[in-house]
Amino acid sequence: MRVLLTGGSGFIAAHCVDYLLQGNHEVVFTVRSHEKGKKILSNHPNVPEAKLSYVIVEDIAKEDAFDEAVKGTPPFQAVLHTASPFHFNVKDAKKDLLDPAIIGTTGILKAIQKNAPQVKRVVITSSFAAIVNPKQNPDTYDESHWNPVTMDEATNTDPGTAYRGSKKFAEKAAWDFVKDNKVNFTLSTMNPPLVLGPVVHYFNSLDSINTSNETIRDMIQGKFKDGLPPTRVILFVDVRDLALAHVRAMEREEAENKRFFITAGFFQNSDVAKIIKDNFPELKEKLPKEMEPDIKEFPYKIDNSRATKILSIEWRKLEESVIDTVKSMQAAGA
Ligand code: NDP
Repeated sequence: MRVLLTGGSGFIAAHCVDYLLQGNHEVVFTVRSHEKGKKILSNHPNVPEAKLSYVIVEDIAKEDAFDEAVKGTPPFQAVLHTASPFHFNVKDAKKDLLDPAIIGTTGILKAIQKNAPQVKRVVITSSFAAIVNPKQNPDTYDESHWNPVTMDEATNTDPGTAYRGSKKFAEKAAWDFVKDNKVNFTLSTMNPPLVLGPVVHYFNSLDSINTSNETIRDMIQGKFKDGLPPTRVILFVDVRDLALAHVRAMEREEAENKRFFITAGFFQNSDVAKIIKDNFPELKEKLPKEMEPDIKEFPYKIDNSRATKILSIEWRKLEESVIDTVKSMQAAGA
């Protein structure tokens, strides 16, 4: 298929590029600048332009941002929408998180509807943040759950609530769009929790690492030498499994019109620290002496069977994710 991939400079998108190319798809990714586009292309020197190229989309929070980008020549058959802000450096929740997430999502769907009638499949990267309700966890989380954050809470509480709101309202807007319009395409959404795994080779520096790998970076740089921080997100998935899930969701008919809870299972910071200690003796001094688990019992169960079955994912274990993440950071100068 010929695929438009948004947010090409992102951590997850970088791995989507790899799996799309492995699947023999043609990829056009969006980036905000030629500098970023050229940097990404330079990391795929043997891939011809017909297989991999980019198009500029400067700001997904603008209503018509995708109107031109979706007009592929030749036309696109599928769109993977990963672009959305994921950080907690928020001054204005609406401007910094909610608008790019929600308008970015509705904007790309409207653009496809208007200008890309050959697009048959759309896959959107949502999040477990759109599912989780930390104040009242159910017995078992699955794809039927939605967080109860209101727009008022998302706009006026704290960056974490703003992010959870941004993912929920963006994903809801996508499902409403396909319900309320006569569309030519089917939708799937990906709902991963914390995504770990090798960092992209072309990011600028370890200082600007993607949000979900920050804790591992801080651990190996000695920031938690005197004690590990409490584990905030207790579920993880490896970025390579998530990228493969995007591609399989795009390719498989059984995945159409479904949400997917994409997780390998539970973890906590002490597990990560122990894996690093056991596999990287040179980093022992950077880690705390005490590595007691901060969670004795996980507060809910999970059901990831839909993704396991329909997308045939064999979930990578935490050990593999952590080892490969640390190696990639060492290769980047950590
Ligand atoms: P990154 O920060 O690495 O990537 C985010 C991407 O979105 C970047 O390409 C960024 O461009 C782009 N982007 C953000 N805001 C805008 C904007 N206003 N205009 C144009 N482009 C924009 O994050 P991830 O790869 O981790 O996240 C990708 C997706 O996965 C997001 O939707 C996120 O919510 C979701 N997700 C991530 C999880 C994780 O643990 N990593 C967990 C669950 C969901 P630029 O580089 O130019 O800023």
